[in-house]
Amino acid sequence: MADSTLTIALAGNPNSGKTTIFNAITGTRQKVGNWPGVTVEKKEGLVVKNGYQLKIVDLPGTYSLTPFSIEEIVARNYILDESPHVVIAIIDASNLERSLYLATQLRELDCKTVFALNMMDQAQTRGIKINAAKLSELLDVPVVFTVGNKGKGIDELLTAAIELALSERQVTQKRKVRYNLEIEKAIAALEQVLTDPGLPYDPRWTAIKLIEDDGIIKERLTAVAGDKAPALLEAAQQQRIYLMDRFSDEPEIVTTDERYGFISGIIKEVLTTSTLQRVDISRTIDMVLTNRFLGMPIFFFFIWAMFQVTFTVGAYPQAGIEAVFGLLAQGAGYLLPEGMIKDLVLEGIINGVGTVAVFLPNILILFFCIALFEDSGYMARAAFLMDKIMHLVGLHGKSFIPMLMGFGCNVPAIMATRTLESKTDRILTILITPFMSCSAKLPVYIVLAGGFFGARAGSVIFGIYLTGIVLSIVTGRIFRSTLFRGADAPFVMELPPYRMPMLKSLMIHMWDRSKLFLKRMGGVILIGSMVVWGLANFPRSGDLQAAYSQKTASIQEQFTDRMADADATRKSELALEQQAVLSDLERDHNAEQASRSLLGRLGHVLEPVFQPIGIDWRGGIALLSGFVAKEIVVSTLGVLYAVTDDPQANALQSALRAAGMTPLAALSMMVFVLLYMPCLATVAAIRRETGSVKWMFFSIGYTTSIAWLMAFAVYQGGRLIGVS
Ligand code: GDP
Ligand code: MG
Repeated sequence: MADSTLTIALAGNPNSGKTTIFNAITGTRQKVGNWPGVTVEKKEGLVVKNGYQLKIVDLPGTYSLTPFSIEEIVARNYILDESPHVVIAIIDASNLERSLYLATQLRELDCKTVFALNMMDQAQTRGIKINAAKLSELLDVPVVFTVGNKGKGIDELLTAAIELALSERQVTQKRKVRYNLEIEKAIAALEQVLTDPGLPYDPRWTAIKLIEDDGIIKERLTAVAGDKAPALLEAAQQQRIYLMDRFSDEPEIVTTDERYGFISGIIKEVLTTSTLQRVDISRTIDMVLTNRFLGMPIFFFFIWAMFQVTFTVGAYPQAGIEAVFGLLAQGAGYLLPEGMIKDLVLEGIINGVGTVAVFLPNILILFFCIALFEDSGYMARAAFLMDKIMHLVGLHGKSFIPMLMGFGCNVPAIMATRTLESKTDRILTILITPFMSCSAKLPVYIVLAGGFFGARAGSVIFGIYLTGIVLSIVTGRIFRSTLFRGADAPFVMELPPYRMPMLKSLMIHMWDRSKLFLKRMGGVILIGSMVVWGLANFPRSGDLQAAYSQKTASIQEQFTDRMADADATRKSELALEQQAVLSDLERDHNAEQASRSLLGRLGHVLEPVFQPIGIDWRGGIALLSGFVAKEIVVSTLGVLYAVTDDPQANALQSALRAAGMTPLAALSMMVFVLLYMPCLATVAAIRRETGSVKWMFFSIGYTTSIAWLMAFAVYQGGRLIGVS
């Protein structure tokens, strides 16, 4: 046994600290967040402990094992099909009653279970005492106290889990959930008939599931029992009909009630709450933050402040990054011989990647703020506040969490919709999430808002994000009353207690994100910039080249003549002048060359589409290239506006202004970027999660149409009322 792998699964309610404990055990950095529904897929990690190789599996958070939502099905199927050696039930000790519902269901399933009473610190501050020995005895499970975020009790937990995994002991339940007489009779009757073909699960449990009319178990039974299946299902149905008649209620409702009864019995025996309970801090904070009148303004203030900070504080480190890329460009300029390679390196690579890289600080700060919201517990309040507004769309606050995650990146946001129970809710949420402007679009806004709106840039960006939120709600409302008729599923938004965010966890979020960003810079953005540069420089027009060389030569000749009989000071003046004239010439030449290139030709073909919204062919091409990744919009602009020697945000901004872009056109472009089709990775996620190509194309089509219409309204409307 010593060399075999033990599989240990972590199960528990959302937000009970599973991922925190998973990370504490495996030393990995999965995302933790203080709101329900962060982990939608199971995650695995390997670790060696006491000489055993352990495979730790972080299951999605669930409240029960009734197959009600995708995550509950994922979690239960894992336990049923992979039969892990031990399941650790992570229990939020400060919320024992609710957590025990899942934990007792795990016991009923008859798998080897260890209880981890997590969040003991919270329980203590609330004056909650739990008699672990008693709990352990009542349910016949090992019980360990843990504080996940401090790493306390993790060793004991693993030791207990390994011990249980190795024990030969048949898990017998001293005390199990006893149902009322009628139900017990039905269970017994079904257990009798079930033994013959038999599912590989505890027969009592299987019988209970059949009484509860569990679709998945019925399917599996059909698969195993073959031609005996109809009779078995019929027997179960008979029992159900009888019970339904007897209780005038669905049997699954009766069993749920009785499980809760069982749990409150346990609670009475193991839990004591001291009367000297401290004031519940969370509740006090919530009186303000979720106040009927103050809540919303405060929420919008936080979001506004987030973008202000992102924009203003982020500007400081930018200078440093610009300097680094400036040095790189200078170095490459000296080292490389004149020619195509030099142009590619300077204009394509350093310039292209550099224009994006300067925004790393902004993105880090944005993610820091989002992580702060998540970890402190405020995110759940935001969802709670938005609940009413979301109901206008026929969705509930829970849908707002994936949408908020969309501020970071749409891909995980779309994955997070799996926490929604109803399929139509899910598709609807997926369709409106891309309007939540992702962080990759931030560089575009910073260039445009920073270049054209000066001190008001932060507020303009906030306005753009707000427009996104409003439009997602409006379109959601329209879809709800056309494509997805019907009411939303009832749902209670829960508010986890506020917690002091851990600096380490915040840093981990930020670092993970920056790693991703850096990786994208070295990958898709680098390649994208090179491709764009290539397409913008070929085919090379021979005539143009010849004319350019000729002009250069004649200018050089001119200056040589003028310098011939000048004194030293005059000479250096002339040298500077020559440099300026030559670089102007080069810029004009590059622009002319780009306009005749493949990309230029494509851009000119597309001109009629973009002209009405105030965007020139270069902007149009940049937008098109943004389909690959939104950051590329900026790097393409950098390449096409031939911002050669200094890859700085300011340089691109002045190039845009010099090319005649107006603040109104910049606004129109920002609106278009906000709304138009999602990037490649998001489109793929939409296809995957909706399971349909149709929804994918629908999403691309309607976002792009809305983007164009809105940009048109902004640009032409602005011109009508005389803004420019
Ligand atoms: P999951 O949804 O079950 O995976 O929960 P997470 O691991 O994402 O944790 C939710 C939140 O609870 C995070 O903010 C953690 O930092 C926090 N947390 C986890 N364990 C403890 C604990 O023992 N005590 C306290 N005070 N907070 C904890
Ligand atoms: Mg988790």
